Amino acid sequence: MTIFEKIAAREIPASIVHEEVDFIAFHDISAQAPVHVLIVPKRCIPRIALAAADDAALLGRMLLAAREIAAKLGVLESGYRLVINNGRDAGESVPHLHIHLLAGRPLGWPPG
Ligand code: AMP
Repeated sequence: MTIFEKIAAREIPASIVHEEVDFIAFHDISAQAPVHVLIVPKRCIPRIALAAADDAALLGRMLLAAREIAAKLGVLESGYRLVINNGRDAGESVPHLHIHLLAGRPLGWPPG
């Protein structure tokens, strides 16, 4: 099991902010902004480049849930950034697809 599957199965603790039948969102353990949440499918898709056509609805619902999470955490109006790191050069460190939701401070562009 990946570390995120273990979080979804409640085998590892996490600060969960949102949950649906097939995905979960929780605070990143090493926050890079005042708000840093990971939105994660419960079933392991290793990375976005390996997502299949059948995953499209799930991925779309995860993207839409970001708006609800941003609203719940008070950053819908100030703004938020969604990031998916795919592969070594992008800085992917956990091989289980996740969307970073970052907010709560001005975020630089381009990212490092
Ligand atoms: P990435 O580098 O895009 O693969 O992102 C992986 C993220 O998972 C990093 O921001 C880590 O801080 C985060 N992370 C790793 N382990 C945990 C954990 N147990 N609970 C919450 N976040 C975690």
